[in-house]
Amino acid sequence: MIDELFDRNALWALAKTKADPTYFRRLAAQQAPRFLWIGCSDSRVPANEIVGLDPGELFVHRNIANVMHTGDLNLLSVLEFAVGVLQVEHIILCGHYGCGGVRRALSAQGGALVDHWLAPIVDLYRRERRRFDPIEDEEARVNLLCELNVEMQVARVAATPILQAAWREGRRVAVHGWIYGLKDGLLRDLGVSRDGCEKTAIEAAESGERRIDPAPIDDWSEHVRKGAIHLLEAGSPCGCAAPAAPRCVVAAEAAE
Ligand SMILES: [Zn+2]
Repeated sequence: MIDELFDRNALWALAKTKADPTYFRRLAAQQAPRFLWIGCSDSRVPANEIVGLDPGELFVHRNIANVMHTGDLNLLSVLEFAVGVLQVEHIILCGHYGCGGVRRALSAQGGALVDHWLAPIVDLYRRERRRFDPIEDEEARVNLLCELNVEMQVARVAATPILQAAWREGRRVAVHGWIYGLKDGLLRDLGVSRDGCEKTAIEAAESGERRIDPAPIDDWSEHVRKGAIHLLEAGSPCGCAAPAAPRCVVAAEAAE
């Protein structure tokens, strides 16, 4: 069954070469993508395909629920390379409706490493709770949180020293917040882009503009690391009692 993938690969390479004999030679010679895509690992959201771009045209990072952890060396290295070396001018932070990671963050489930990973989304939900209260439909609640999550992750990417330094140098690089519909295959711009020219958070607050706070800028990676140690060493779900952990607070609220 897995050998089938080699057969499919051979057919794909043949079709590409037939359509353009220089295709692979050109690609091998250089990588010059103009866009960085930060999206969800969900197999139904294949970055290149959705935007109709070939390999070589999109630099891609994907993780569960497209989360920007401020201490994620993987994502930060991708971001640094994309902005500093590839000189991309557009960073697309793309979420999708019906995201399983976001759904889990809204559920009462917990105790797995992934729950530590999703902690910033749980925290976001708690901070924006009032917007969810009038919504009874479960899918609508998940989808609102999917949108807010994109907005928060855009703010977090914009707040990194990498983007801040690029903007100080006058570089033209924008961070866009998009969302993809699994049901219709269409992308939507959530209108939460940042390009370094907008008001600062303080100016925005003073003018009464409502904005998702990129906080917590504090580093959840320490919490994620502890969760991993719990699972690896104890072989059991996390018993983490970190007082600031949103999952723990949600669990405590549920227990009240
Ligand atoms: Zn997802």
